[in-house]
Amino acid sequence: MLYIKDFLLQLLFALTPFVLYTIYYRDKAENYSRQFITITCMICLFMSMSFPFTVEDGIIFDIRYVIMFFGMVYGGMTTGVFLLVEFLTYRLLIGGQGLFSAIIILSITFSLSALLSNVYRRRSEYRKLITFVAGFSFSVIPIATMFVTEYQYSIQHLKFNILVMPVLNFLGIWILISLFNKAVSDKELYLRYLQSEKSETIAHVAASLAHEVRNPLTAVMGFLKLLKDDSITREKSQKYIAICLEEIKRTEVILSEYLSIAKPNHAVVEKIELVQQINSIVEIMTPYAIMNNVSLEMQHLEDKLYISANPTEIKQLFINFIKNAIEACAVLATGNVNIRIERQSEYAKITIIDDGVGMSNEQMERLGIIYFSTKSKGTGLGLTLSYQFIRSMNGDVTVRSKSGEGTEFILTLPLTN
Ligand code: ADP
Ligand code: MG
Repeated sequence: MLYIKDFLLQLLFALTPFVLYTIYYRDKAENYSRQFITITCMICLFMSMSFPFTVEDGIIFDIRYVIMFFGMVYGGMTTGVFLLVEFLTYRLLIGGQGLFSAIIILSITFSLSALLSNVYRRRSEYRKLITFVAGFSFSVIPIATMFVTEYQYSIQHLKFNILVMPVLNFLGIWILISLFNKAVSDKELYLRYLQSEKSETIAHVAASLAHEVRNPLTAVMGFLKLLKDDSITREKSQKYIAICLEEIKRTEVILSEYLSIAKPNHAVVEKIELVQQINSIVEIMTPYAIMNNVSLEMQHLEDKLYISANPTEIKQLFINFIKNAIEACAVLATGNVNIRIERQSEYAKITIIDDGVGMSNEQMERLGIIYFSTKSKGTGLGLTLSYQFIRSMNGDVTVRSKSGEGTEFILTLPLTN
C-alpha cells in the first residue's frame, strides 16, 4: 500500500513540466524555451528526490532518469548538465548507503540519455523505439548495478526491483513525453495558424492597395485623354491638370496610409461637408463615365450637410460605389448613374442609382464579402472596404436590385453639427 502512494506521488512529479507548460504557455503566442525546460525539470528533480521511494535506509528511488532524459530531449545538453549538477549536489547532501551506486548508475544513464535524446530529436521515426529503450535501460541499469554493488539488498528487495521500478520508469517516460509532445504540437499548430492569418491579412491589404491605386489612375488617364484633344480651352485644360495633380496627391496619401497599416491606426476624423465632397468625386469620376458611355448626374436637396469622417475613407467609399454603378452600366451599351443627397432627420441619405445589369438575390447576399466579384478583372475588395468604412462611421447601407433592371444603394451616415 505504501508503495502505491509513493508510486503515484512520483508519477505526479513526473508530470510537473507538462502541467507548468500548460499553465504558463496557455495564452502565450510562443512555444517553450530551453530555460523553461531547465527550470521546470530542476523543480521536478528536486521534488522527486525530496520525497522518494525508500525501501531501505539510505537507498532511494525516484524518477530522476525520466527527468534527465526528458530534460535533454527538450532542453538539450545544457539542461542535462544543470540537472546533473543539481542531482550530484543534492545526492551528496542526502548521503547514505546507496550514494556510491547512485553515482555509478548516474554516470551510465547520463551518457545514455545524452545519446538517446540526440537520436530522439534527429530521427522522428525512431521516437517510440527510443522512448521504449530509455524506459527499459533506466530500469535495467540500476538493477544490474545494484546487483553488483549492493548484492544483499538486491536479493532482499527483488520483487520491488523487478516489478515497481521498471513500471515507474516506463509509465513516467511514456506519460510525460507523450503528453508534453501533444501540448507542444498543438501549440505549434496554433502558432502556424496565427502566422498564416497574419500573412493573409497582409496579402489582403496589398491587394486592396493595388485596387485603391487603380481608381485615381483611371481618373487621371481619362483626363489625360481629354487633354489630348486640341480644341480644349485653356481654362478647361488648367482645371483638368489641377484635378490630375489632386488625384496623384491623393494616391500618395492612400499609399502612405496603407503602408502605415501595420502600425496602430491613427485615423484622422474631420468635419466634412458632404455635398461638396461628393460633387468633387462626381467630377473625378466623370471621365470614367464618359469613357464607358454612361451619364453621371448628381442632385442635392440640401446645400450643406456635415459629417464626421476620415476624408480619405469618404473619398474611397464614394469612388467605389460610383465606379461599380458605372461598370454595371458599361456592360450594356449605355446607361445612367444618378446620385441623390438628402437629409433624413439626423442622417445624411445618399442614394446611388444605376440602370445597369442589376443583381440576383444570391449576388446581393454575397455583397461585401471579401473577394466576391462578378467581373473578370474585379477584385471584390471595393465593397468590403466600403462596408467597413460605413460601419466605422456608425452608418448603414441597404441595397435594392433587380437583375436586368438596375441597382440602388442607399447609404445613411450620421450628421454632425
Ligand atoms: P469589384 O468591383 O472589384 O468586382 P466590389 O466589391 O466593388 O468588387 O463589388 C463586388 C461585386 O458586387 C461586383 O463584382 C458586382 O457583381 C456587384 N456589384 C456591386 N455594385 C453593383 C452595381 N451597382 N450593380 C450591379 N452589381 C454590382
Ligand atoms: Mg468595385
